[in-house]
Amino acid sequence: MKPQRERHVEGEEPLEGLDPQDWPAFRAQAHEILDHVIDYVEGIRERPVWQPLPDAERALIRGESLPRRGVSLREVHAQFNRLVVPYTVGNVHPGFMAWVHGGGNVFGMLGELLASGLNANLGGRDHAPIEVERLVVRWAADLFGFPEAAGGVLVTGTSMANLMAVLAARTHASPQVKQRGVSGPSLVAYTSAAAHGCIARAMDMSGLGVDALRVVPVGADHRLCLSALSEAIERDRAVGLRPFLVVATAGTVETGAIDDLVRIGELCSREALWFHIDGAFGALGMLSRSRSGLFRGIERADSVAFDFHKWGQVPYDAGCLVVRDQAVLLRTFAAEQSYLRRESRGLAAGAPWPCDLGPDLSRGFRALKVWFTLKVIGADRLGAAIDLTCDLASELGRRVDAEADLERIAPIALNIVCFRYRFARHIDRENAALAIDLQLSGMAATSTATIDGKLALRCAIFNHRTRRHDIDAMIDTVLELGRARARRLAET
Ligand SMILES: *Cc1c(COP(=O)(O)O)cnc(C)c1O
Repeated sequence: MKPQRERHVEGEEPLEGLDPQDWPAFRAQAHEILDHVIDYVEGIRERPVWQPLPDAERALIRGESLPRRGVSLREVHAQFNRLVVPYTVGNVHPGFMAWVHGGGNVFGMLGELLASGLNANLGGRDHAPIEVERLVVRWAADLFGFPEAAGGVLVTGTSMANLMAVLAARTHASPQVKQRGVSGPSLVAYTSAAAHGCIARAMDMSGLGVDALRVVPVGADHRLCLSALSEAIERDRAVGLRPFLVVATAGTVETGAIDDLVRIGELCSREALWFHIDGAFGALGMLSRSRSGLFRGIERADSVAFDFHKWGQVPYDAGCLVVRDQAVLLRTFAAEQSYLRRESRGLAAGAPWPCDLGPDLSRGFRALKVWFTLKVIGADRLGAAIDLTCDLASELGRRVDAEADLERIAPIALNIVCFRYRFARHIDRENAALAIDLQLSGMAATSTATIDGKLALRCAIFNHRTRRHDIDAMIDTVLELGRARARRLAET
């Protein structure tokens, strides 16, 4: 017989901690809530891609003071449905082509749910969740062709992974920095003009300074110009500076360009520089059968930063840093006194721990949603979904090239298409406004990017749900809104 549960008496300590008083009622509601979110994803096409959060709803969210007394789960869920669900950014929707966002997936969603049920802390200690994370990192290392000695950790995203790579490269070049801080001949790093802004931020946060990052020009293909890189390194050496790091990009945010990884890798070996690749979305292009060749040279890198939450479609957030030689991460992040003295048996065994490989101590079980995603979907199907986004981008490019009112303004390397409407006047301003018109239409969303001084609508196709008719609907809406705008422009 089940023990009778004590009723919670007003004003007294609840006898069962913070768990529900009525488990069967909670269970029923939890099932309903799960059904609701499954309905949301299944029915995503019925919704607008995005709609602005109205002032009244915003005020309701902002105006709430700390709830001193709890309300029912039903009430909180109803509020969530009313105030939050309709006003998300829209990246689950197949019409979302703005920014480099993944579409998520429901298997990963369940992984996330289960991870929070287990409430595992993956900072350290000896338990199966850490083995799952090690496995996921191993899969990535193998995908990139890294040796057995490779290692890494999951982190929030590539911004963090890039920062950690800069720190690892810095420690590798100048081991005493860890103890004494930055001093002596200045360390300098190199990246291309098309690199993500977080590389400069990493230089800032590492204490090396943004000025110690040389921004190398790109060619017409938006890839780092190798001769300019060599010259910059030579110039810096000549004045007594210490080149230590080259950050190549495999899939730039603006055009999807992939730097020449083979030749940059050769140059880094020759010059004894750390070769880091920002492969935030692109690195998982290695899963694609037809396009993995574009990433040749990735196997030469000292480190690769990438996201499972972009092309990998794992729910946010799931970034990763993989380093060719895990020992460098240990030298960079481990507090040696503690990790060398860990137990060989018991709960405190299993060193090194993830907290020795990065800056975080307490860490969630991000790896579980990656594990669920990769195991249920399989790497080949994920690769095929990646291919499809590239194929759709090529089709979109052809469609843009065929429309007299549109002009494509960058080559298509992968899944990103940059184009603009040919307004007669104020072309940048009008295209920026057109991007907003499109977002407000709820039909589709693109963002903007400035390419060679021209403001473009940037269409980044990342969502695995996006199909050809979504692309057609987007272009049709752009043309319709663009024509309306052009007419108004002609009248003024
Ligand atoms: C998205 C992106 C980043 C930043 O990654 P986060 O996961 O958003 O931190 C860095 N570099 C490139 C090329 C990106 O596409």
